[in-house]
Amino acid sequence: MRRVVFAAACVVVLLSTSVSATDNSPRVVTIEVLIDHGDDVVRAHQAISSAVLDVSGVFRREFNIEFKVVVVGSWRPASQHFDGNEAFSFLENAGHNRSDIVVAFTSRSFFADVPEETDSRITVKRTSGGLAKLGGNHAIVRLYDRANVILIHEIAHLFMAQHSDDPGSVMYGDAIAATAFDEDSKEAVFQNRDRKF
Ligand SMILES: [Zn+2]
Repeated sequence: MRRVVFAAACVVVLLSTSVSATDNSPRVVTIEVLIDHGDDVVRAHQAISSAVLDVSGVFRREFNIEFKVVVVGSWRPASQHFDGNEAFSFLENAGHNRSDIVVAFTSRSFFADVPEETDSRITVKRTSGGLAKLGGNHAIVRLYDRANVILIHEIAHLFMAQHSDDPGSVMYGDAIAATAFDEDSKEAVFQNRDRKF
């Protein structure tokens, strides 16, 4: 697995929207986006731009947080059905000195240690839509039709939001169907809105 900087595909998407004059200035969080070297760059780029735009809209509305993509690079997950935890450690070791957070996208499937439904102390290997650590700086997001929902979920983890047992919350741990936040998750993101990355 190797991380390669993509000079040619460096179409930097700047997401900046005006907030009404009565609001406080938005908290701007910069993102380094990594595209899987095996994915079709143009399609991946479109899907990522639309997901980031969507997520930025939700976070701006809920928390006055905006996301700005400042670097686009590529990364190489090892195989078709790769170990997400291993890839995650690799990304963490590579650091994040060019942006506040790093989000690595891939259309490949990957598996990860996730809490067992009946006992959260036990983890099992399962196919996963995304990975992030509470209060971390990195996320891996599977690029498919629910990428925007997964991205909201993983980014909220970076702001310390934990899983919710409310199936109507975007922080529901499994098969997320909603983009709304439950009250606890909302509170967590608010509390950590200005966290240092
Ligand atoms: Zn989660």
